Amino acid sequence: MRWRDDRRSDNIEDERGAPKTGLMIGGGAGGLVILLIAVLLGADPRALLQQVAQQQQNQQAGQGPRGAAADPAEEELKDFVRVVLADTEDVWNAQFEAMGKKYQEPVLHLFRGDVRSACGLATSAVGPFYCPGDQKVYIDLGFYSELKEKYGAPGEFAQAYVIAHEVGHHVQNLLGTSEKVNAERGQDKRRDNALSVRLELQADFLAGVWAHHAQKMKKILEPGDLESALTAASAIGDDKLQKEARGYVVPDSFTHGTSAQRMRWFKRGFDTGDMSQGDTFRARDL
Ligand SMILES: [Zn+2]
Repeated sequence: MRWRDDRRSDNIEDERGAPKTGLMIGGGAGGLVILLIAVLLGADPRALLQQVAQQQQNQQAGQGPRGAAADPAEEELKDFVRVVLADTEDVWNAQFEAMGKKYQEPVLHLFRGDVRSACGLATSAVGPFYCPGDQKVYIDLGFYSELKEKYGAPGEFAQAYVIAHEVGHHVQNLLGTSEKVNAERGQDKRRDNALSVRLELQADFLAGVWAHHAQKMKKILEPGDLESALTAASAIGDDKLQKEARGYVVPDSFTHGTSAQRMRWFKRGFDTGDMSQGDTFRARDL
């Protein structure tokens, strides 16, 4: 994927090095209490104070809580996701304008381990996600090594697809689709699940629409890129994930759609670039 000369987005929050509350001894009254308790329990106060000073230094230097210097490979990934985010902004700003609407750019929030969003506390085990409550896309960059090693989907364009899918959920939120789906939810579990699948497949379709227009605007694709996104769409389909987790698949509990469905909708978005082709809610065949 060609990206290095493209624009970087500033709609990014980086909380990877932020101290985790409860684990760190911070300043203020709370920190003092923890320090006192630690001393009462027999800890060496000088060592503790040194630790606090070290943590504050690290925070000022923007380093991780353990004082580890930023990993250069991950810094490059950050640079990359800023470009992909900017690409989604350029495409969706134009698409919304064509619909006579105004696109509100989402924020991409980088975290490590766990994160508190308006949608609650989440760990990186859930994978990248979008929270409609604060209109942010959350990602632990560690997911990308998982994508490569565990799911066999390497390649930059596969990584871009992951962000484009989450931004797709943001587009659904802005267009009122998510709200409509939520209003219909809660009658029975099977129907709820079917609705979730359609919402997910539409996000894949929107990722495809993004890729279509990003290619038109910026010529981002290199040979093999489309295949790598399709591999990612297929690798993280619910049937594959379930088979891996318990050795068999149970269609009723699917929430993202099967690998074949995910690939089909992404491809439809990519081939047409046409928003009107993505009504997964009325489609008879997914
Ligand atoms: Zn999704």
